Amino acid sequence: MSTHCFACKESNVLTDEHVIPQALGGRLKAKLYCKICNENFGKDIDAEIANQFGNIATILKIKRERGKLQPFEVEDIDKKINLVFDGEGFTRKDPIVEIEIEPDSKTLKSANITARSKKELEKRIKDIQRRYQVQRDIKTFQEVHPGPTDTKYEITIDNTLIRRAVAKIAYSLFCIKVPKEVVFESAFDEVREYFKDGSGPDLACANFIHTRFMSDYIRPLHKIHIALNRQRKVVVGYVSLFGIYRFTVLLSGKHASQLEWADLDYTFDPVRRKEVFGNERFRAPNIAKEDILHPKQSKVFVQQELNRGQKLIESYVDNYEFLGTELSRPTS
Ligand SMILES: [Zn+2]
Repeated sequence: MSTHCFACKESNVLTDEHVIPQALGGRLKAKLYCKICNENFGKDIDAEIANQFGNIATILKIKRERGKLQPFEVEDIDKKINLVFDGEGFTRKDPIVEIEIEPDSKTLKSANITARSKKELEKRIKDIQRRYQVQRDIKTFQEVHPGPTDTKYEITIDNTLIRRAVAKIAYSLFCIKVPKEVVFESAFDEVREYFKDGSGPDLACANFIHTRFMSDYIRPLHKIHIALNRQRKVVVGYVSLFGIYRFTVLLSGKHASQLEWADLDYTFDPVRRKEVFGNERFRAPNIAKEDILHPKQSKVFVQQELNRGQKLIESYVDNYEFLGTELSRPTS
């Protein structure tokens, strides 16, 4: 069936789109965008959001529809080495190769290689055998990283690609919930152009101060909330990923609506893989247009909120263990 793509507006066959990327455990799908748009999103904005926030999905061992959990790099604070965590175990990020050569410069005296995989190790050994005379057999063994007690990793919480990805998340839910003729109004052209091509000023922003209603600080919920302020002609999208990373999106600053709609909401528990209902108590604050894109929030405040989010993830993993489910803590 051919119809109009909600991004480029061209008449085309539409493909399935995950409203929240499936790399983050998103399950809600709809035919919204054409193949060309979908592929472009996959390459840049969806890839960026998977890169930056996919590690939380890995920590929570979220079952994806397809594809593997995103491995990510952590630093073992004790040993000062970089490890990669893939949801199952830790492996060394960089190989170590230390070789000692006899004075004849042809014979290998000793070699100490730590590789990240058997395949890599075999390749390194072959390289050495090709270049040097090797006197003895080479013995290999598997190094096991028990999992560091203390790790750290860095993520980016706000950049242009993330902002565009988040704008698409809010807009995609809007497309599902609101009649097509409303979505295709010119009042929403700017946001379409923005997440599609990155043109125009930024229309989304990391916002921790006006989005506290988006998290219950107990569960790592994904949540999208869309609110209309009819007097101000403003349509605001609120997006919360894992209850931690939170954003506001200006979907439109000039939507003249005849009707008052109920706030549109979608809440999803990516660990239990279930939609969460009955969140009436979540009420969006009435925020000024300039606060949507320029929230007044101090760095200290943002850090506090991020720490709270980190604790949420950790305690959720603990509780899950306590309940005797499959989910286990990566560091134990
Ligand atoms: Zn398209």
